Amino acid sequence: MPELPEVETIAADLRPHLVGRTIVRCDLRFPTIVRHPEPELFVDLVAGLHIESVRRRGKYILIGLEHERVLVVHLGMSGQLRLVDAATPIANHTHAIFDLDDGSQLRYRDPRRFGRILLGTEDALREARAMPRLGPEPIDPDFGSEELYQMLRRRRAPLKAVLLDQRTVAGVGNIYADESLHRAKLRPDRLASGISRKSARRLHESMRESLETAIKNRGSSVDTYRDAWGEIGGQQEVLLVYGRAGEPCFTCGRPLASKRIAGRTTVYCTRCQR
Ligand SMILES: [Zn+2]
Repeated sequence: MPELPEVETIAADLRPHLVGRTIVRCDLRFPTIVRHPEPELFVDLVAGLHIESVRRRGKYILIGLEHERVLVVHLGMSGQLRLVDAATPIANHTHAIFDLDDGSQLRYRDPRRFGRILLGTEDALREARAMPRLGPEPIDPDFGSEELYQMLRRRRAPLKAVLLDQRTVAGVGNIYADESLHRAKLRPDRLASGISRKSARRLHESMRESLETAIKNRGSSVDTYRDAWGEIGGQQEVLLVYGRAGEPCFTCGRPLASKRIAGRTTVYCTRCQR
């Protein structure tokens, strides 16, 4: 599933090409991918809108349109958002095609169909419960380690589960939760409420390092993730623990352990992580 670094890469790729364009029309081929408003209304409303910004919030891509409307894309498990020339052959599982006024097309493709597209003002989307309340951005300079510590100490749940909860921090998923906890030398099954201020500081720093390194490397293509040009990222080559269960820990050489936490396969080192 695309997480913060992958979504950030796509948003940054798209920004210079989308801002200033107008959406001419939308060909919605799999209507239920649109969750708000009704698909027919969506197609009507989105046509003719000018694109003013492209941002990321958590794992959401927010395309800011005129009249304070936002076109929201969540990539789910296997979503891909690509900018192509209109003459490019249409790949299977392409669910929505947005024609832009320069002859290019923004295409949403999603074989597993867990993704979703929304349109509305941010307030309307929150009121309709189409978009959840999200915690702070872990790479925001205003988000400090004390804030993380205060959130963790209130939660009687494993650290891994708390990091996956988008209300704690927005954008961290299975890959970067495991990577961050390994860097911080913390066991993923430790109770969040029991960790010290010092450990929280280490986790805060590790989370930022894991995410920023992955952004520099244009994300992890561990499964179907592709950037806005259809290219794979580079971070999968340098992941420390994710996807490496049974392989030696890069620090101590002991085979990495694996365990299910919060319903997700979790990989960690029983010697380096305490
Ligand atoms: Zn180790």
